[in-house]
Amino acid sequence: MINHTPIADTYQRRFTYLRLSVTDRCNFRCNYCLPDGYCADSQEDYLSLEEIKKVVEAFALNGTRKVRITGGEPTLRKDLVEIIHLCKSTPGIESVALTSNGYKITRLLPRLVEAGLDQLNLSADSLRAENFKLITGHDKLQEVLHGLTLATELGVKRVKLNVVLMREHNLEELSAFVHFVKNKPITLRFIELMQTGDNREFYQAQHVGGSEIQEQLEKTGWSQVLREPHAGPAVEYTHTNYQGNVGLIMPYSKNFCQSCNRLRISARGNLHLCLFAEDHHKLRPHLLNESSRELAKRIKTLLGYKGEAHDLHQGNSGSTKHLAMLGG
Ligand code: SAM
Ligand code: SF4
Repeated sequence: MINHTPIADTYQRRFTYLRLSVTDRCNFRCNYCLPDGYCADSQEDYLSLEEIKKVVEAFALNGTRKVRITGGEPTLRKDLVEIIHLCKSTPGIESVALTSNGYKITRLLPRLVEAGLDQLNLSADSLRAENFKLITGHDKLQEVLHGLTLATELGVKRVKLNVVLMREHNLEELSAFVHFVKNKPITLRFIELMQTGDNREFYQAQHVGGSEIQEQLEKTGWSQVLREPHAGPAVEYTHTNYQGNVGLIMPYSKNFCQSCNRLRISARGNLHLCLFAEDHHKLRPHLLNESSRELAKRIKTLLGYKGEAHDLHQGNSGSTKHLAMLGG
């Protein structure tokens, strides 16, 4: 097994995780993300397979071990199976994950697993069909739930259900979500609603602090699991009576950025050092005429510009209009 030393930034954070967006297009209209649906404001000139290969090789040389494919909706890419396969066959990459809204997942999943998919996150912000439709614009809850079951049956190593809790849209489903993992080997992942350029008022009305969820969990017997250093910013909980786990992503919590272990590449090949940074760095002009080693060196140099923390607390979400732009 190849194990390159992970690159580190000036704050001694090590980067072993790449979030690679393969499209910014989406077929859903989640109320907190793309309430008016996807609107193409530039050409759909997404990275080709060959360009993705170069990016992933360069990151692997810099010590990346895990690649998550995200979007927009990544299942809209016709070559998704090939993308998963090339990530998985890159020396140094140990784990390949996918985040999807689940729209087409059951049809695709057997081929994705065969191509090497290790981890799957599906998003569902309600367990009630009507409410799911109100939040996403699509009557597809059953497809997502079937996708979760199929993933465990097909042996996907980690299966997660992503949920963004919102004060008026689904907070009353909190205990139903937790109950959902009682007898399932699935991790429930609550993602705190984040403010983006486009959702300011929505955020102000709907945001639920992660500590409120933690309180509820702790009251009902869930206990926090100690995580390894550099394991990333999620907080994990277990319960003896539950087969599944619960994880929380709390970007507004104190010191959240101290455990950052990830870098992001947009579907058009821009390096984003932070989800909420003002700037990005264009890698595309270098992808085909630089070797993976040269590209790895370039990324390592750019990492020097990574800031210590995001500015979300000041209501500043950088240039991120919505998370479909970059994949969360
Ligand atoms: N389309 C795929 C999906 O929805 O799973 C992948 C991309 S989506 C941007 C990745 C994750 O980000 C989803 O779980 C979604 O719920 C979450 N997300 C999107 N906008 C968000 C926001 N403003 N705050 C918190 N989570 C958000
Ligand atoms: Fe699409 Fe995912 Fe955004 Fe929903 S959260 S609109 S599925 S990109």
